[in-house]
Amino acid sequence: MDSEEVGTFRMSTDTAPTLSRTRCFRYGCLNPVIDQCEFTDANGNQCASVWCADHRLEVNGHMYCVRHAGIARALDENVEETDRPALNLRAPALAVWVGDHVDDHVRMYLLALGSEMEQATIQVYAIRRAVGVSGSPRWERKWTLRADGKNVVSVAIAVDEHHDSVVTARVNDGVVVRRMAPWIRHRVVAEWSDPAQEAEERQAFYDGLVDVIVRTVNASIPQKREAS
Ligand SMILES: [Zn+2]
Ligand SMILES: [Zn+2]
Repeated sequence: MDSEEVGTFRMSTDTAPTLSRTRCFRYGCLNPVIDQCEFTDANGNQCASVWCADHRLEVNGHMYCVRHAGIARALDENVEETDRPALNLRAPALAVWVGDHVDDHVRMYLLALGSEMEQATIQVYAIRRAVGVSGSPRWERKWTLRADGKNVVSVAIAVDEHHDSVVTARVNDGVVVRRMAPWIRHRVVAEWSDPAQEAEERQAFYDGLVDVIVRTVNASIPQKREAS
């Protein structure tokens, strides 16, 4: 739905929102539409966004919008219909996006950490919904280093459904850092930002999360070994 109120002026609502849009949903794109996003959620609702040939994204032969392409890629392929995220949730999409951007870095770190351990393996989980002790649901990407048949350490990137602009990094299920994604902050305050500067800021954001994870894990590993 397009917003109606700008200051004290009410914009015309004569052109009611319609699903049969003929233009791509990508902001500023004037290309004709060729596909509707195929994502359906737990309740059988289909994403209403429509896309041109340049802006639709294919995952396993299906067409999606940007948000749902990431989710479709990150969901376990055997996920129950009822465990698919609701259409309007931003939390899983943000967790997937940030998870994808730190994935290499996290794996490399865990591999290095496990290199001196017996039978070390890294398990990478699909995006999933988790409910904390507070009862607050979150969506998370998780990586676990296992050695000698035991979990050595788990790290995760999570986004709470109720605070869906804030990314948390978790180590062994405890939150180690909570940060608002910079591109969302820019949008909230309607700032214009230079694309090059924004790319740099994004990278710094991802690196910052990994940095806290690494420092926390490094500090926790000796105790973890003694405890097990
Ligand atoms: Zn387009
Ligand atoms: Zn979609």
